[in-house]
Amino acid sequence: MTLEQRKNIVLTIPEPGKFKLVERPFPTITSGYAIIKTEIAPVCLEGSRIWSSHDFEFHDDPTHLGHEGVGTVIEVMPGSNFAAGDRVIVFQGDHCGRCHACTSALSPTYCDANDPDIQGIEGAAMRGIEKRNQSASGGFAMERYRIAPEANLVGIPDELEFRYAAAANCSFGVGFSNQEAMDVKAGDTVLIGGIGFIALGHVISALYRNARVIALARNPYRVDMLRRMGVEHIIDPDEPDWLERVKDLTFNRQGADVAVDGSGVAYYQEKLMSAVRKYGKVNFSGHTPGAKIQLSPLHHVIDPAHTIMGQHDVRSLDREYLIRALLDSQVQRMVDVMVTHEFPMSRAGEAFDVQVSKQCGKIYLWTQE
Ligand SMILES: [Zn+2]
Ligand SMILES: [Zn+2]
Repeated sequence: MTLEQRKNIVLTIPEPGKFKLVERPFPTITSGYAIIKTEIAPVCLEGSRIWSSHDFEFHDDPTHLGHEGVGTVIEVMPGSNFAAGDRVIVFQGDHCGRCHACTSALSPTYCDANDPDIQGIEGAAMRGIEKRNQSASGGFAMERYRIAPEANLVGIPDELEFRYAAAANCSFGVGFSNQEAMDVKAGDTVLIGGIGFIALGHVISALYRNARVIALARNPYRVDMLRRMGVEHIIDPDEPDWLERVKDLTFNRQGADVAVDGSGVAYYQEKLMSAVRKYGKVNFSGHTPGAKIQLSPLHHVIDPAHTIMGQHDVRSLDREYLIRALLDSQVQRMVDVMVTHEFPMSRAGEAFDVQVSKQCGKIYLWTQE
């Protein structure tokens, strides 16, 4: 294959419920970036809001999709710290190297290069990667070939399979990094509500840390997944005594040390906040468009002395221990439960339909197939 013959194949969703693979020019890069042959692009919101109603965030649109992924470096510029053949995890977005997030080793989502208020929508995040590389493709994950800043690549150890490394983004990775930020540790009680793929990532992280996990869950498919992961305490939040049952499972009935919301809706958020002990921590990891919650600073924050936090993505300071966790056999066993479906990108529509059905955990797209 000559250089001129190289093409990229890109997934598009031209209208809700329809996908099309289209040909684009092969990516071009400038220094500081690498071209990666993506192997797995895990499905995030592409398979729910985008597929069913074309509800995009600022960084994607019908022809630019996907942000999670793992693959193999195929091209770098002279002087790179990476080489063709390196297997890597791609953490989403660009890297400016100068802002608060970059200099403090925080999540690249918060880098100024990815901020549409600073860069404009056309210059921020993955679109910004294409623009800064003057490339006609490759900014996004649901493409055969992708561009990423080397600062957001992490090498995958030889003994770690792609399918486990691919849990480093918006599933186990997000749960792990949020729990590092909250210092979740052995002996803690972690209450998790609204069980989707982000919450499942939190469950794996909490069990890995030897915390006691209590799940608030109603979807029978996901209740079964939680049981298979090893969660012993699953409570239906519609039951009138749910709060008493949660408290019975906590030290001195004082409430959970940490609560995590994966739903993004008030139904779970209000319940979770009410079940956390004094000086406990509340984590918002789910988001639902348009959803709002009535929050009283006195009753929800000051009176219970709660810390409320949330964070997209993975802080770069957590990457090494995240990979160490992914090498753990029990984490891998739980990732096997979490990843319920894998599809070739050529059958992406089936993957997205399954995600809309909620009869699934995390779904992987194999982009070369
Ligand atoms: Zn930055
Ligand atoms: Zn994601």
